Amino acid sequence: MFPFAYTRVTDVPAALAAGGRGGRYIAGGTTLVDLMRETVERPAELVDIEALPMRGIAATPGGGLRIGALVRMTDAARHQLVRTGYPVVSQALELSASPQLRNMASLGGNIMQRTRCTYFRDVSAACNKREPGSGCAALEGFNRSHAILGTSDACVATHPSDLAVALTALEATVHLLGPAGERRVPIGDFLLEPGSTPQREQDLRPGELITAIEIPPHARPLASGYLKVRDRQSYEFALTSAAVALHVRGGVIREAKVAAGGVGTVPWKLAEVERRLVGERPSAALWTSAASHAADGARPLRHNAFKVELLKRTVERQLRVVGGGK
Ligand code: SF4
Repeated sequence: MFPFAYTRVTDVPAALAAGGRGGRYIAGGTTLVDLMRETVERPAELVDIEALPMRGIAATPGGGLRIGALVRMTDAARHQLVRTGYPVVSQALELSASPQLRNMASLGGNIMQRTRCTYFRDVSAACNKREPGSGCAALEGFNRSHAILGTSDACVATHPSDLAVALTALEATVHLLGPAGERRVPIGDFLLEPGSTPQREQDLRPGELITAIEIPPHARPLASGYLKVRDRQSYEFALTSAAVALHVRGGVIREAKVAAGGVGTVPWKLAEVERRLVGERPSAALWTSAASHAADGARPLRHNAFKVELLKRTVERQLRVVGGGK
């Protein structure tokens, strides 16, 4: 290990001061400590924010839900308001990582976690995300688990968070606090596609801290769920996943919120699938025809072309599970 300073803060102003001088925020530490052990990340100062008051889960006046950034994954998954109002979020959390990690990891850290691309974690490999301008070993290497959507010539790594897929489907907002004040950024804008700067993964300004995640009000009833397809049933990242939320009234789909994971450089909102669902009556034929657009725009690599069909089937199956229909 390399030398670094450690600062434990107990109030927000102290955290922002430490973040403003370049300290790296750490909560559960389930991503950052691993990366430090592998010397992929070498922060000069860690700022421990565990003691900050950001652990509440509460309904918002308009009918949405606000979850503090330091709420543990396990606690969020089990919370009554999450379980009953947003099964898609609860299920995405429960299908993530391992029970031990879920007991430690915070929601803010979960959406900030870095890619599981093996070349990113191998400091002897070329990786534009770890070392800008060095190249991308995955492009010509073994890229079975990599992205087919939102890729660039600089990086093809997937975003690893299941939670972020559910939040993308539900069009959640990330609450930020920094030296210049508060900001609220839709999660679809907060997580950045790689483009020519894959080292820049979030719309986060120097010293900014995630304080909460807010799910906006959705029409009720809202049926929802998360399906994760992976090589083994536990402690594994998604090959494909689908987060689906549907509001059906009078036998017609009035609202459809759908996103995919395991396939994009960021959680991938399936806007065309949503568009084809709204105004229609639930049916097996509708699920098939809408899901046939799930991989629109995909650019498969040498080893991951199978994800195109797998993604369509994943979305179709989850539409059927959530929406029913003959
Ligand atoms: Fe690095 Fe991205 Fe290429 Fe993986 S896919 S080696 S993270 S640049």
